[in-house]
Amino acid sequence: MGRQPLWRRVNFIPPITYFKPAGVPLARLQEICLTVEEAEAIRLKDLEGLEQEECAQKMKVSRTTFARVLLSGRRKVADALINGKAVRISGGNFEMATRRLRCANDHEWEMPSEVLSGVEALPCPTCHTPSIVPGMPGAGWGRGAQGKHRRGGRNC
Ligand SMILES: [Zn+2]
Repeated sequence: MGRQPLWRRVNFIPPITYFKPAGVPLARLQEICLTVEEAEAIRLKDLEGLEQEECAQKMKVSRTTFARVLLSGRRKVADALINGKAVRISGGNFEMATRRLRCANDHEWEMPSEVLSGVEALPCPTCHTPSIVPGMPGAGWGRGAQGKHRRGGRNC
C-alpha cells in the first residue's frame, strides 16, 4: 500500500547538466540522456563508494532495480566517453529528499535535506524565530522539479 516503485529517491541533482565533447561539430554531435536517478546511482556507488545494499536503501528501490539503474547509467557514460557523445542529465522518475520543519509559532516549511545536512538551526522563513520544534518525524519527500517538468522532444 502507498508504495510508488516508479519514483526513486534522489538526494542530489548535479549542478552541471550538460557535457559536450570538445571539437565535435554540432551537426555530428550525438547526445546521450542520463536520467537524474542514473546519475544518483553512479554518485552513490562510484563516487561515495557505498555498498549496493546501502545505495538501494537510499534510493528506496530493490537491489536488482538499483543494479539495473546503475548499469544503465554506467553504460551511457562509457558510451559518451568512448564514442565522444554529449551527455544531458535530465528527466527520469525521481523525488527529491526534503525535510519538514516547524517553528515554535507553528509555521511549517520544507527544505531540501541537502541544505540541512550539518546545519543545526535554521530560522523560520516566516517569523524568523530560531526556535525550531525538535523531533519532527523523519524525512519527507517532494518530487524533483526536473521530474515534474520533463523535457519535450527528447525522451531518456
Ligand atoms: Zn515561524
